[in-house]
Amino acid sequence: MGIYESRGLTIRDLVSLISLPVTRLSGVGDKKAQALQELGIESVFDMITFYPRRYVDRTRQASLVDLAVGEEALILARVRRTAVRRTRTGKTIVEVDAFDGTGYLHIIFFNQAWRAKQLKEGVEAAFFGKLERFRRVTQMSNPIVDLIGDRTGKIVSIYPQSEKAGLASWEIAKLVDDALNRTGEVFDPVPEEVLDRLDLMGRTAAIRAVHNPSAMGEAMAARRRLAFDELLRLQLMLRRSKVENAHNSKGISHLVAPIFGSIVHTSRLNAGLFSAEPLGADEESNSLIREFFASLSFDLTGAQKKALDEIANDMRSPIPMHRLLQGDVGSGKTLVALGMLLMAIQGGYQGALMAPTEVLAEQHWITLSRLLKGFKVPGSSEDGLFESNERHISVEMLSSKTSAASKRRILDELSSGRIDIIVGTHSLISDGVMFHALGAVVVDEQHRFGVEQRAVLRERARTGHGLDPDVLVMTATPIPRTAAMTVFGDLDLTVLDELPPGRTPIHTRWAKTGDQYRMVFERVRSEVASGRQAYVVCPLVEGSERVIAKSAIEEFERLGANELKGLKLGLLHGQMTPKDKDSVMEQFRLHQLDVLVATTVIEVGVDVPNATVMVIENADRFGIAQLHQLRGRVGRAAHKSYCYLICLAEPEVPNPRIEALVASTDGFYLAEKDLEIRGEGTIMGRRQKGRSDLKLASLARDRDLVASAQLMAKEIVGDDPQMRSFPQLADEIRAFQNPEDSEFLFLS
Ligand code: ADP
Ligand code: MG
Repeated sequence: MGIYESRGLTIRDLVSLISLPVTRLSGVGDKKAQALQELGIESVFDMITFYPRRYVDRTRQASLVDLAVGEEALILARVRRTAVRRTRTGKTIVEVDAFDGTGYLHIIFFNQAWRAKQLKEGVEAAFFGKLERFRRVTQMSNPIVDLIGDRTGKIVSIYPQSEKAGLASWEIAKLVDDALNRTGEVFDPVPEEVLDRLDLMGRTAAIRAVHNPSAMGEAMAARRRLAFDELLRLQLMLRRSKVENAHNSKGISHLVAPIFGSIVHTSRLNAGLFSAEPLGADEESNSLIREFFASLSFDLTGAQKKALDEIANDMRSPIPMHRLLQGDVGSGKTLVALGMLLMAIQGGYQGALMAPTEVLAEQHWITLSRLLKGFKVPGSSEDGLFESNERHISVEMLSSKTSAASKRRILDELSSGRIDIIVGTHSLISDGVMFHALGAVVVDEQHRFGVEQRAVLRERARTGHGLDPDVLVMTATPIPRTAAMTVFGDLDLTVLDELPPGRTPIHTRWAKTGDQYRMVFERVRSEVASGRQAYVVCPLVEGSERVIAKSAIEEFERLGANELKGLKLGLLHGQMTPKDKDSVMEQFRLHQLDVLVATTVIEVGVDVPNATVMVIENADRFGIAQLHQLRGRVGRAAHKSYCYLICLAEPEVPNPRIEALVASTDGFYLAEKDLEIRGEGTIMGRRQKGRSDLKLASLARDRDLVASAQLMAKEIVGDDPQMRSFPQLADEIRAFQNPEDSEFLFLS
């Protein structure tokens, strides 16, 4: 840490700027320091990373004479006159006349009396708002105002100002200038050659240009470079903790021979630590897995085989696996997960499968029990010497419905090793659950499972044999690659990028007129007439579970009396008892019902291949991922399937989410689209403060940088989490790493 000389220049590293308090800047006394603190600025470092909210390009500044009424516009103008008056009802109105060199702008503020003081005659400011015309005068009401003071230059940076703290944009700009002057040259950890390759500017130049660009292009280039730094720091943190984990934990070397022989790139951190050869594993050790996959009525897809080989490779290694399995709806993740569990139990270990909800856990339990029926594992010696030394695979489920007596038995059998696979919700990692030898854990729908829970899981799982189990995390729908690399950056990634053959894309339409609405239900009737089944997902209403249930009941009754009169309808919502839910699902599965009217409880996991129509009412209320997941409930067999998104609207009103679904059935494409439309706020959380936040980087815009940063982090960390060959970067990371901050990344 510190300041040093290089080629005659004094160079500081970023860390030294963190320890320089902002009070060292000229004009910052106690009062101003406090105001700055409210903006999260305490050090010179905070000051220079307090980035402009936007820029006003004077060279391309629109003039009042050129602008049309009704447009949103940014006008740079000087105040000529300010007046305050009161309405008869006692409201204060401040009226300002400003001149931009081409014309006058009349600005009106309602109930903002303090504007009179702020916008005195002679003050120059940027006004942002909608242009109106009133009695032949161009005006704006309640625009956003940024005081820019006497800043010159072609491009003016506008800072997020704080009215409460009484800091105007121009004051912040002045402080930033002072901070930049004191900063001088900053150490750049990225080698010249990498800068060239990624077309990035140097760090010092970028820090200066982001605040005082000479052209808009330069501002963008500076932003890109500084975004890269943010992403690099984040990836370094993830990489370090990953390597540290690998060093500090001991996993199980499962006895698994290669299964399908796909070429698998060893992604292990330390290939030298173990032999890629299946130590002691032979054809014999895989007999259960081979038998199981041979029993299926279909071939695995190439992607499934490759995923299983990758997993087998990891399972064999003594470094605990932490892998994310991504695949589109219907890509067959369940079988891959099951394969992993079998790899563990064929060697005498146990497997656990955790789902986010009881409904899903139950689905999984039913599926696994059905698929594993008749398969045996080598028994333990307790089973007797004279009987065949084999017993049926035991799959059990723990849920809140499990009776006290069953629960006692299950816990007992888990700790003695009689149970091979346990399925349940996160309650599986609660106190009191003790495993005999847990070897593999599958976590379904990671979205709701944070890094903290993963740590707890590891702790709990370790008891028993003192080794960490291998962990596979599955997501229900794809998430964008950049998000996966960022939010799940500590996991290895496997992608199922292939659907089982014979799936025809689901015919998806947006029903926006009354005629189209009627045709949707005609389609439901005709599909039912030809022996198929349908889902109708009720409008998403706001309110308690009870309110939601009530609206579902009403919709069920309405449809039964009108559009779907005469068909056998079932109703499914969250307020029903588990028993009633099960019974309705069972009736639907057995085709005793034609149409299931449901709330989003059917969102994930429901698997009834005979269903071919999915109708979603008020589709505009759902997110892309949710719509895609719901649509995935049909098209699960060879029958042609349909999805109708009902959203009665003016024909001309665009709806990018619905349009995306109509355009594509590719979950990976939709995930990217979703990121574009919503921005990453929803993925990353929206905290403004904290040094490790991404202030400039955007997962949607900076895709290429995320990948480059990850690659570079890998090279830098290598096998040394201390990063001893990169002391400045190591210091930088340490200064940035605020455990509380990095945690939030995982708790989306
Ligand atoms: P996901 O969980 O990825 O959405 P599932 O594992 O539920 O998908 O699989 C969807 C359906 O496809 C299931 O009915 C499953 O039995 C079937 N399936 C899985 N793999 C294959 C395959 N290779 N060929 C044909 N059908 C498959
Ligand atoms: Mg599934």
